[in-house]
Amino acid sequence: MSGVNEIRNTFLDYFGANGHAKVPSSSLVPHNDPTLMFTAAGMVQFKNVFTGLEKRDYTRATTSQKCVRAGGKHNDLDNVGYTARHHTFFEMLGNFSFGDYFKEEAITHAWNLVTKEYGLDKDRLLVTIYHTDDQAFDLWKKIAGLPDEKIIRIATSDNFWSAGDTGPCGPCSEIFYDHGDHIWGGPPGSPEEDGDRFVEIWNLVFMQYEQIAPDVRHDLPSPSIDTGMGLERISAVMQGVHDNYDIDLFKALIRASEELTSTKAEGANKASHRVIADHLRATSFLIADGVLPSNEGRGYVLRRIMRRAMRHAHLLGAQDPLMHRLVPSLITQMGAAYPELDRARGLITETLELEETKFRKTLDRGLGLLNDAAAGLKEGDSLSGETAFKLYDTYGFPLDLTQDALRARNIEVDLVGFDTAMEKQKAEARANWSGSGDAADEKVWFALRDEYGATEFFGYETEKAEGVI
Ligand code: ATP
Ligand code: MG
Ligand code: MG
Ligand code: MG
Repeated sequence: MSGVNEIRNTFLDYFGANGHAKVPSSSLVPHNDPTLMFTAAGMVQFKNVFTGLEKRDYTRATTSQKCVRAGGKHNDLDNVGYTARHHTFFEMLGNFSFGDYFKEEAITHAWNLVTKEYGLDKDRLLVTIYHTDDQAFDLWKKIAGLPDEKIIRIATSDNFWSAGDTGPCGPCSEIFYDHGDHIWGGPPGSPEEDGDRFVEIWNLVFMQYEQIAPDVRHDLPSPSIDTGMGLERISAVMQGVHDNYDIDLFKALIRASEELTSTKAEGANKASHRVIADHLRATSFLIADGVLPSNEGRGYVLRRIMRRAMRHAHLLGAQDPLMHRLVPSLITQMGAAYPELDRARGLITETLELEETKFRKTLDRGLGLLNDAAAGLKEGDSLSGETAFKLYDTYGFPLDLTQDALRARNIEVDLVGFDTAMEKQKAEARANWSGSGDAADEKVWFALRDEYGATEFFGYETEKAEGVI
């Protein structure tokens, strides 16, 4: 059985042997694009190469890119632990052509790799194309010999890629693997497509147009290719398991958290172990790339991910901070491919331990309040927005942590009420503010307060003064 590390290398070696430069993953913090929260795809580091703004000494590249989809436009956070195929952090394998080869070669490579190098059973594969892309339809027939019904035309934006309202764009084609009829789900485009039976493993983007204005689209003089395959998803297929969390890498991380908490990843504890393993990767890689927990922007997303994991550690009965003790297992699994993890070992460990130590001071009391408030609620009810706000404001519970805590009981949070409580508190603070009498000062004060949130800025309790909001 191939492990994740071999599967990654097979991909990079295949494209390396076919004239692609092996380029290292870029940082999770996209330095060339302040509008992006995190790097969420392999193409991000090549954005300016695709548009021609930047030249490199190669026209073909292959990468295994670290990705986080837990904030901004791409957000899979709520799926994690509950679907078989979503992570907050994952690796995206990709091959890229910058005005070099196009559709035919891209499809040929993809088909060769999955059926020959990876040896997947052709009968289990099906593809989607953009509904008007007859060229892709013909190529899939010619190259892969797929029957018509396994080349599914999709008319939605799922099969048309663009980075924004203008710029390069084009149709895409996704390769799906059928894990078998013992798993619920239907083929893409069907009403059951959200199930886990048919899993998208690889997305091929054919960048062939440039959008100039809403109705004006030109052909690009030299079209390009951008592809992305989820390493964890292809590993699940290769290892004969249907669920990403059953691959070697995740099994090893989950085993470590089972040992440290003396619990099993079964029944009610299963989701907790998965969330912990997933969030361990996301938090460690983010810290290694220079993100630190804070109350705004990227740092707040990191803090939310950390605290979610910490609540699950608490659910498993961990009496002491847990996350930092899992770092060695992560480095054992991924340190060879990503040496930055080992370089940042001290920082990752200390940051996780400090954050968990601080959060545990309010976690117990917050959960007590939450349990009391939710005790009388039944499935389909909502928790009051005021309670959710109090948990956020006084106990440092990010809203999504509260939502996650209520998920198993099918209870939602009254979001309108949450916003109202937040606004009310802001208004009260304004009314109570006697200030310096200087309007300019006041403006700065409120700007800061809005940016950093009420609690940290007020700092009226010791934990809050320490930064636990
Ligand atoms: P899905 O429809 O399953 O959410 P996607 O269409 O959003 O996937 P793409 O943006 O096409 O995904 O990304 C390329 C590939 O990256 C996907 O084909 C998949 O293999 C992988 N991938 C995407 N999101 C995730 C995730 N959250 N966790 C793990 N792998 C992912
Ligand atoms: Mg998605
Ligand atoms: Mg998709
Ligand atoms: Mg896709």
